[in-house]
This record gives sequence, C-alpha cells and structure tokens, in this order.
Amino acid sequence: MEPREFILEQVREYYKNVDVSPSHIEKREFAYGDFEHKIIQRHLSFKDSKELRSFLIEKAPMHMHYSPALYKFPDARPMENKQLIGAELAFDIDITDMDLPCQKVHGKELVCKDCLSVAKEEALKLIEDFLIPDFGFKKEEMEINFSGNRGYHIHVISNEVLGLSEEARKEIADYISGKGLDFNEIFPTIGQKGVLIGPKPTDPGWGGKIARNFIKALETGPAALMSLGIERRIAKNLYEKRALVEMGIRNGNWDMVYIKKKKDFWSNILTKQVIKQSDIIDRNVTSYTTHTIRLPNTIHGSTGLIAKKLSFAELERFNPLNDAIAFEKGEMKIRVEKAPAIMMKNQVFGPFEKVEGYFPAYVSIYLYLKGFAQILSVEA
Ligand SMILES: [Zn+2]
Repeated sequence: MEPREFILEQVREYYKNVDVSPSHIEKREFAYGDFEHKIIQRHLSFKDSKELRSFLIEKAPMHMHYSPALYKFPDARPMENKQLIGAELAFDIDITDMDLPCQKVHGKELVCKDCLSVAKEEALKLIEDFLIPDFGFKKEEMEINFSGNRGYHIHVISNEVLGLSEEARKEIADYISGKGLDFNEIFPTIGQKGVLIGPKPTDPGWGGKIARNFIKALETGPAALMSLGIERRIAKNLYEKRALVEMGIRNGNWDMVYIKKKKDFWSNILTKQVIKQSDIIDRNVTSYTTHTIRLPNTIHGSTGLIAKKLSFAELERFNPLNDAIAFEKGEMKIRVEKAPAIMMKNQVFGPFEKVEGYFPAYVSIYLYLKGFAQILSVEA
C-alpha cells in the first residue's frame, strides 16, 4: 500500500470511532486540507453531526477547521452573504514564537514535554488569571483543546460573548496582552526618592493581579519567585523576609526589603505576567469574522496527533505525546537522515542519523508529516 493511502486509511478508521460534534454545528463555516495545504476548500457547512461524520469518513481530511463565528448562511459566498450572528472568543496558545531552552536542542519544528508544559501553563494562566477572575467567565462556558501540534486552544462561548462588538474584543485582547499598561500608574512613586508605593492585592485590574501573584510566589518559595525572573540571591532574601514583605504589600508598601535598581526589577516582574503570546491572541480575537480554527477532536495533518478536547481535570495530567496519539496500530519502515530524539508513549526514539528501520505507525507518521522521514514500506 502507498504510504499516503495507508495514512488516509488510518484517518478514516479514526473518524469511524470518534464523536466530532461542535456546538452550533449548523451555523459554522468549515474548511479542510490535505497533505500539502492546510486549507484546500472552505465555505462548507453541515446540518448536523451525522452529516459532518459522513464527510470526515468519506474524505479523510488531513486538516479540519471551523469558524469561531456563527452565521445564518455559513456556506454562502462572499463572506458578507453569510450574515454574521456572533462569534465565540477563541484563544490560541502556541510555543512556536517563544524562546525556550529545549528548542535549542530539538528545534522549533518538534516539541518535547518541557515546551508542551510551558504551553499548558500559559493556557492555565489565561484561564485562571484572566478569563475567570477578570472577565467573570465560568468554566462551563469554556472549552479547551490541544491544538494537535504545539499548543492549546481555549474557546469561550456564551450568549454574552457571541454579541461582543469588535471594540470590546480588541479591549479584551489588549488587556490580556498588557498593552497600554502604565507602569507609573501601578507604582506611582517609582523613580522618586522615598517609599515605593504599589498595588494592594485587593485592587482591581492589573495592579491587584500583580500584588496577588507576587504574594502567592512569596508564600510558595524561592523557586516560584525565580520563575518571575528574580535572581536566586534576591529570591532567597525575599523568601526569608516574606512575612515582612507580604505585610508591606498588603498595605501598598513595596519597599520593605532593599532592592537595587527598583524600577527595572519590578517592571521585569510585571512583564513576566503578561500572556507570552500577545500577538497571536490579538490576531485570533480580533479577526473573528473571517478566521477559522482547528476543529476539536480531529486529526492534525502536520503531526498525526489528535486536537483533543479536554476537561479541566484532564488538562492537568495531559501530555499530548502520550495522550493524543491517534494511530495505535501497525508499523512502518522509515528512513531518517537526521532528526533529534522524540519521546512518544513514554518511549524515546532516536536521535536519528541515517537510520533505516521499523517504527510504530504513530512515530513514523509523526516524523513523516514533520518532514524528517521517508516512508519505505507499511506493515498494516
Ligand atoms: Zn521542548
């Protein structure tokens, strides 16, 4: 069997056994792609999950996307004829543009459990530090899914969200990305002689968030303080004097311990609390009327992994390279010129250097779709 035929057969098999039924299915635009292109056709619509399922089994698409927007006529063209009803908020957290130490080892194309946990932390930060406390969204209104490749998607859908204007969406994106945040407003006496006055944990907005996060890190220990970008020596000093420091901050006095170059120090900590992916968040939240996003529980054609929908409890212990594997069956003979080691299903494969041999289908397909492997033969 041709390798691509084998892969499509596996994709088809996957869709026979899975439930892909997004909310408001009949009001969304769908798009799909093949091995070469993430989108080869858009403006598709399905009246129910049965119809979508038949499509998925028949076409075995390598990529499947849907619109965060809901339309009266989702398959109409051009866009304005679709008649927009409203749109959910869709946030995309992706590690591609982050600068992480492990990426120096495996490159930007591949992932490992370290960078995937950074993506997870960012996703949780977005939910727990922003969407719930600052915007009042409820967990029941949120959907989380692994993107299928290098990150997570968070969808917020409720009647209030659907009706949000473009300006309101822009404000949400700006707030989360800390755009227009005025440091001098949060620390009014910074740069002046005398006591550094700053936010209290009970303050609204960014000020309160900074104070609460700092106190939390202070109570957790030096490692938590260091993850805010504080060097070890200062972190230890702050932790030793934590009772004093915390009492000060609760009263708006951030000057209980001497810190050199105060302004740089605190502005660095503030920067660390912004969601790392501001630009991507901005693009997704604000271009909602034309944008499509990966359909949860479908196969990602650049990895062969499932863009898996997750509950909050599942997210905690989820590792995509173990838990989002779609192709469990069969082996393939591949040739890999050069590739770093990967870890799937708790097993290390590689590093590869002119390697020819049999590997599980999920490893072979992953390396093939990522452009690292050539498939020589298929053992179904
Ligand atoms: Zn990594």
